[in-house]
Parts: sequence; structure tokens; C-alpha cells
Amino acid sequence: MKQLNQIMPALPEELQKEKKCPICGKVYRQKYLKMYNKTIYVPDCNCVERKEQERQNRIQRIKFLKKKLKNASFPYDTLGKRLKTRTCENIEAAKEYIKNFKPRTRQGLYFVGPVGNAKTTLAVCIGKELIRKGYSVKFIVFSQAIRLLQSTYGNKNPLDFMEQIKELAKFDLLIFDDFGREAYKDRTLTDVADFVNYLYTNMNNVVITSNPEMVEKIKQIPDFNAMFDRFFQMTKRKNFVKTSYRRCNEKE
Ligand SMILES: [Zn+2]
Repeated sequence: MKQLNQIMPALPEELQKEKKCPICGKVYRQKYLKMYNKTIYVPDCNCVERKEQERQNRIQRIKFLKKKLKNASFPYDTLGKRLKTRTCENIEAAKEYIKNFKPRTRQGLYFVGPVGNAKTTLAVCIGKELIRKGYSVKFIVFSQAIRLLQSTYGNKNPLDFMEQIKELAKFDLLIFDDFGREAYKDRTLTDVADFVNYLYTNMNNVVITSNPEMVEKIKQIPDFNAMFDRFFQMTKRKNFVKTSYRRCNEKE
């Protein structure tokens, strides 16, 4: 025995034991390595590789998700908020909307209520859930959207007015926050009318948040009604009546 050990040194302990796959339990296959005069045990299945591949795929999905979340440009204070933790008004309407969402169906929501009662947060939650379902979403304060479109008149924006509209219209869902706070002077009214008309004809889906006083204010603008009506033909109105966001979301 002593002699034999000298000729064939003992295998390291981990190679001697009969091993099995930690995932499917299949016993490892013995493999004799002639070159080293050694027998090793190797997996007889591809569970470990498969698991690693799944992990890599998951990483890719998370990276993709993060990129989409970044592109959506949600406001900083709503980052991390998910619909499943919400208990605020119109939550059922939001869930229903997510469930039945189809791009380019001109199906939207119009959240109306005073400041600070979760309209924006709920809109953001809808956007996030849709991103998780693979859709593309853009959040933009409406006055910023107008500024973005009007930046095409100068030389800072390489796109022209229509190209910029088309860029925005590519998103499966557009969230227009705080509609009505923008000032309508000079060409803004016709710019917004062109924008809204395009979204309407293009069958875009929009979620709009607005403050009731703001809506009353812009309704007074001459010639505004036609455009206004068009926007709201694209959405179902949901009222938020509770004034405090905290009151409708006790957990926070
Ligand atoms: Zn296995």
C-alpha cells in the first residue's frame, strides 16, 4: 500500500468524494485525466451554466430597466416608489389602466386635484409598472415639454419642431405633469395645438395631471377649447378630492 501511494499520490479530498449537482442532484461523472493520471468528478448536467446564464440575463434585464427608468426622467422624489405600496385615491383605476395598457390606443388618464395629493406619484407609479412590463415611458412637466418643443426654434436643439414632436410621440406612454401651469402667450397656443393634434392623430397614450384652478384658468383663453377638448378626448378624468397626500397614504 505504501508503495502504491508513492507512485500515485492521493487526490485532493474534494476530488475524491463522489459529488452531485447542487441544483438537480445528478451525481457527477468520473473523468480520468490520463495526462495527470487522475480521476476527477465533473457535472453530468448543465445546471450551473444554465443558472449562470439566467443570472447574466437578469443583469441585462436590470440594466435595460434602469436605462428605461432613466430615460423616463421621473422626478427625483418619486424614485423607488412602487404601485404595490400605494393606498391612495384612484389606485384601482391605475391598476386597471396598467392591466389593459396597449400602446397607440389613445387611452389615457387625466388626474385632477389640488397640489400634494399623490396625483403625480400615482402617475409615476403607472409609468414605472409599464416600464417593468417592457413599455417605454416619458415623464415631463407640461411646461417643460413646451419649452423643449420651442427650443427647436433656436440652434441648441438639432431637431426641428415636428421632429421633436415625433421624438416625444415615440414613447408608449407620455406623462404630462402639471398641465395648465404654462403661460400661453405668443405662439405657445398654436404650438401646443399642433403638439396635441399630432398626439391625437398618432393615437398616443397620455396621463395628465392637473390642478383644477389651473384648468379653469386656461379654459378662459380664447380659442383654447377646441384644443382642450381634443386633449381630454384622449383621457378618462379621475378626481382626487383628498387634500393631504399623507392622509391617504398612512404608511409614509
Ligand atoms: Zn444539475
